[in-house]
Amino acid sequence: MRYSQALMPTLKETPAEAEVVSHRLMLRAGFIRKLTAGIYTYMPYGLAAIRKVENIVREEMNRAGAQELLMPMVQPADLWRESGRYEKYGPELLRFHDRHERESCLGPTHEEVITDIARKELHSYRDLPINLYQIQTKFRDEIRPRFGLMRGREFVMKDAYSFDVSDEAAQVSYKKMYEAYRRIFIRCGLKFRAVQADSGAIGGSFSHEFMVLAATGEDTIVICTACEYAANVEKAAIKPVENRSDELEKDLEKVETPGKRKVTAVCEFLGIEPDQLVKTMVYQADGKPVAVLVRGDREVEEVKLKNLLGVADVELAGDKEVFDATGVPTGYLGPVGISIRVVADQEVAAMKNFYVGGNEKNHHMKNVNCGRDFQPEHIADLRQITVSDPCPDCGGTLELTEGIEVGHIFKLGTGYSESMNAMFSDKDGVEKHLVMGCYGVGVSRIVAAAIEQNHDENGIIFPVPLAPFTVILLNLGLQDKEITDAAEMLYRELQDAGVDVLLDDRDERPGFKFKDADLLGVPFRVTIGKNFVKNGLVEVRQRRDGVTEEMSPSDVLASLPAKIAAELKN
Ligand code: ATP
Ligand code: MG
Repeated sequence: MRYSQALMPTLKETPAEAEVVSHRLMLRAGFIRKLTAGIYTYMPYGLAAIRKVENIVREEMNRAGAQELLMPMVQPADLWRESGRYEKYGPELLRFHDRHERESCLGPTHEEVITDIARKELHSYRDLPINLYQIQTKFRDEIRPRFGLMRGREFVMKDAYSFDVSDEAAQVSYKKMYEAYRRIFIRCGLKFRAVQADSGAIGGSFSHEFMVLAATGEDTIVICTACEYAANVEKAAIKPVENRSDELEKDLEKVETPGKRKVTAVCEFLGIEPDQLVKTMVYQADGKPVAVLVRGDREVEEVKLKNLLGVADVELAGDKEVFDATGVPTGYLGPVGISIRVVADQEVAAMKNFYVGGNEKNHHMKNVNCGRDFQPEHIADLRQITVSDPCPDCGGTLELTEGIEVGHIFKLGTGYSESMNAMFSDKDGVEKHLVMGCYGVGVSRIVAAAIEQNHDENGIIFPVPLAPFTVILLNLGLQDKEITDAAEMLYRELQDAGVDVLLDDRDERPGFKFKDADLLGVPFRVTIGKNFVKNGLVEVRQRRDGVTEEMSPSDVLASLPAKIAAELKN
């Protein structure tokens, strides 16, 4: 492409509405333009990056034996009623009527449509296994669309669906997708982790989220520095404490703690450490109070609490709510003789002779023991994992990081095939339900995630496989025939070698061109200027590390295409 003709309207100033760096840079580079909340036009070279991701995804899906199809975006409500999701899905599903007053919706995902295909077209075990995928625009009426392509209402997704004869066969399909996803994200040049998305209790987990590691991620994940372990912090399981201390249980005592309500104040006053104290936190669980016990230096993990209690919502109670429920002022609450339900973190049950609130203003209790002095309704893993916990898999050191979910794979089982009656006949002629899996990749989100992970103060640093252009040629002598001829020759020859080249033939100052080249994140910059007239050399600079070399145009042609091809292979 010739820059003088390209629709790539770069902006010098930072657009005010963009909160994260990928959004800012994609706007500044002229890759996207907003139409309305969460809905963007992919401008030519933003689209080029999306297409690069699509091609990698397509190649890896095909390599894994999946077949591409394309399903409709507009879907009849009745199909969604069959699966029971028309009512359940909530306001993210955009619903409307057509001219015949038929209820319809815009596809946020395609389980219903694909199951309808499956029940009509798959009949026998001979048709299985099969994996069908599409790359398509999805619509979800997100409550808070933000961060540009990261969380749009309209976005590009690859979704795949597998059909198998049995659970075991479905696990094979799942593992194939797991491998295909690893290859996709490696080829995209991303640093990522596959995170178990459920507790992974029975024989390995069959739901994984693929997370790109980047500071602006919406999920916090914990990763092991020694092994492959990675988990969402909300779900990271903490191993039970193996040995309870063999200290003897001492007599319960009440101690005065005048005005000391906070853990730090109580500890300082009593001369103890926070790990000798147990906090009693009151939560409203679907509106009913429950006291949660964790060690003084720990935090309650609300998702774990919610799952344990089987409620829709938990919320920390305010001072008045605590007083109304227990008759005790905040800061002095404890589990001994308390009138509301009590649940305890597993660590508390393993402690001996600890301190708790005295259920009376200005008082605490010492030498408290779980089981003897109070009996929790549940003892469970209820606290947040920390970096000082050992890795649950290998005992190694953990690290906390933010992650952007770019893919999700999920073993569905027979939920949809049962509700929608999708059957096949097995080897013995017995009719059975198809066993399904579903697999999503956020294609447009990947471009944003790649930029979050690869940028500096001057702009984007595209990984070669996603870059709309791999080489930018700067002609710094538009009036000079020798320079221009060399630039035109390189432009032609690099294109012939299959390289995506942008020739900056604009009548602009060198500094201006350098700035745009950096902003656009083109991996290799080749500058043809005055030096070429002097010594026949051009300058080749790598965007990522700034390494610069001088060489002849023929050396550029001899080395650059091969270097680029090597980065694309991976
Ligand atoms: P999230 O928790 O981020 O909302 P999700 O669990 O709703 O994601 P899935 O339904 O599993 O996502 O969709 C598959 C993939 O599509 C996700 O892994 C993500 O990469 C992408 N995706 C989901 N919602 C959006 C969105 N609003 N904008 C861009 N990409 C999205
Ligand atoms: Mg979502």
